[in-house]
Amino acid sequence: MKIVVLKFGGTSVGSIDRIKKVSKIIISYVKKNYKVIVTSSAMSGATNELIKKSKEISNNFISEEYDVLVSAGEQISCSLISGRLNHLGYKSRSWLGWQIPIFTKGDHSSSRIQNINKKNILKYLKSGGISVVAGFQGINFNNRITTIGRGGTDASAIMLARFFKAEKCIIYTDVDGVYTTDPNTIKKAKKIRVISYEEMLEMASLGAKVMQPHSIQDARLNRIDIDVRSSFKKGEGTLITKRKNISSNKIIRGVSFTKNDAKITLIGVKDRPGVAASIFEPLYKNSINVDMVVQNISSNGKETDLTFTIKSEDLSKTEKLVKKNKKIKLRRIIVDSRVSKVSIIGVGMITTPGVTYRMFNALAKKNINIIVISTSEIKISVLINRKDLKKAVSVLHKEFNLEN
Ligand code: ASP
Ligand code: MG
Repeated sequence: MKIVVLKFGGTSVGSIDRIKKVSKIIISYVKKNYKVIVTSSAMSGATNELIKKSKEISNNFISEEYDVLVSAGEQISCSLISGRLNHLGYKSRSWLGWQIPIFTKGDHSSSRIQNINKKNILKYLKSGGISVVAGFQGINFNNRITTIGRGGTDASAIMLARFFKAEKCIIYTDVDGVYTTDPNTIKKAKKIRVISYEEMLEMASLGAKVMQPHSIQDARLNRIDIDVRSSFKKGEGTLITKRKNISSNKIIRGVSFTKNDAKITLIGVKDRPGVAASIFEPLYKNSINVDMVVQNISSNGKETDLTFTIKSEDLSKTEKLVKKNKKIKLRRIIVDSRVSKVSIIGVGMITTPGVTYRMFNALAKKNINIIVISTSEIKISVLINRKDLKKAVSVLHKEFNLEN
């Protein structure tokens, strides 16, 4: 059986007209002799509406009921899609997570899909029906409805592709692929034809909002090729696949950036074992995510300076936590909420020397000061002043030949 999984995001099913359009896309695969499994997000805005209602009822809405509530949007979009397909003469039905079932593990609202029972859907596909599966939801082993994190329909699609051994997994969205950098910021951004899971994962966690990072990780672990394309525009999108399938000789695949970082520097911290742990313990306990960290070598063996970055929205809370932390002694705290992180990403840097130098040199030529640096095997990130952001992205985009 030749199976395709088609995922539609919230904007793709955001209105009745769009659902009619999406139905045509689905039918085009039936005509190509695919057995089609569709999975859809809620109509755009619907999930946010439900979350708002939960907050109006209680600022401590019980998590089991929260998932019942916020998963409701997908029931509507999926039945509308099936309804339209029926209207056009095609056999189709919707499936909610519990009807399949899709089993999940983990906490409510951040569960992960563990297993999908294939029997009923396979039977339905064989009988010529189009299965429209509600994304973002499942049930846990207590038989309660769960959800799998915002944007989770991407992960639903990947797991459906995995369990049904789909020939293709196509993510239909409101952009026509993944770009070398944000096309709204840099006009010369180019669509990337093929990208590896690792690069995409970095791009997604560093701010390129095409797919939910979890889902890319799921695809990587299960070796599922993902085809990202637009539901509004015809034409090829971006293929996310394993490195081995990529022949392009680009060293750097993309430049990504964030706009909402903040930096805290602790001056004159007593330098002894355990201080760093003492500084970060309360942050961890308050679910504050620390991103970049640098500590200077202590010049006198007694004191050191430590800088780290967090999201801007966590700044005031973090500052308070540091100030009231009795386990650490320091002379002064400096905060800066106007910083941005710019990163270059590419598996090519593993085998190419000089990438770091080229990056720093390009920034230096534009007089852009680097505040903090962090690297991984396939990524180099620098923290800079936010006013230099556009200039930095633009110069790096050019330096690494991403314009052509
Ligand atoms: N409707 C859910 C959300 O808005 C899931 C999704 O869109 O994938 O987060
Ligand atoms: Mg979405």
